Amino acid sequence: MTFVCFLNAKVWTTVDGKKQEGILFEVNGDQIGLRINGREYHFLAYRFIPADREFIRQWSKIPRCHGCSKPIGNQSLKEAGDYRFHESCFRCLVCAKVFQGGEKLKRDEWGGMVHVDHFDRAKMCDTCSKIISSETISSKQVFKDGRIVCLSCASDGVFDPKRMEEVRKRVWPTLAALGITVPTGDVVIRVVGKDVIDKQALKINARGNLRGLTLTTYKIVSDGKRAKTSFSHEIFILYGMPHIECASVLAHEYAHVWLNERFIEDTAPVVEGFCNLVSEATLVQEKGKLASIIRENMKQNNSPVYGMGYRRMKQRLAILGWPSLLAEMKLKSKPPKLR
Ligand SMILES: [Zn+2]
Ligand SMILES: [Zn+2]
Ligand SMILES: [Zn+2]
Ligand SMILES: [Zn+2]
Repeated sequence: MTFVCFLNAKVWTTVDGKKQEGILFEVNGDQIGLRINGREYHFLAYRFIPADREFIRQWSKIPRCHGCSKPIGNQSLKEAGDYRFHESCFRCLVCAKVFQGGEKLKRDEWGGMVHVDHFDRAKMCDTCSKIISSETISSKQVFKDGRIVCLSCASDGVFDPKRMEEVRKRVWPTLAALGITVPTGDVVIRVVGKDVIDKQALKINARGNLRGLTLTTYKIVSDGKRAKTSFSHEIFILYGMPHIECASVLAHEYAHVWLNERFIEDTAPVVEGFCNLVSEATLVQEKGKLASIIRENMKQNNSPVYGMGYRRMKQRLAILGWPSLLAEMKLKSKPPKLR
């Protein structure tokens, strides 16, 4: 067999000179998947030197099995949508039985399949809605707060303040380009579980499947002539979300901070719709599949607040553009009056 060399690890070199051994297992547009020490990571292909990018091009020319990422070779294959499988890899992710043909199947966006009758037993990734094989699920995919994620989302998860800081740095250029200015008040970002978010949400009467939350407090000090307002913000963000999703949630919360520092008030659909627009702006920049799936979920969301609000604000943005939309939002400012 000649294809074995493609399965071996090779040394990958980034354009800024970092080296890392890894096995290529997936190419999705501009995004590639590398298995490094048994964990799956996703990178943008342009981060690698030209020789590595050529390797990626050659790799993706060869028809591969979506189940095991090995070349199809001259074995007989099964096709489902854009995906090809070895006959023996064309299996239900719940019962692991090979499909014979003629069964009713249900498919996720990622080429994962189950028998229709087994769908209610399938576990889905909390982030990307990938069906997770019950055979291979590992403890690091099950979070303490009950969420379950797929292997690639888990391996890219943001769990600690240090990685959150990288996310924050990635988000700000996008926000600045929209015209969202840096907060005047202090912002503390807390990376927490769903239980903590839900508990904090009760304080401000927020509802729904929240992935982030912002609490703003302010103080008005007057010396008799002039009043000065100071703010402080606490942003709660769910731990374990992949970098891209984490960035989109953080952008949403910074939009709340921007609104709060201006005392901008409106109905929940307008406020959350606006914040989702800001969130979406970070996703537009990403070319990977995960970003487009999160955007699609936002578009299809049937919540009257997050979904309809977003769609209505999206139309408003199309008419006004960002500078005028921000100006329109500022008109809704209702600063508290000192007695
Ligand atoms: Zn296979
Ligand atoms: Zn099955
Ligand atoms: Zn996932
Ligand atoms: Zn919100």
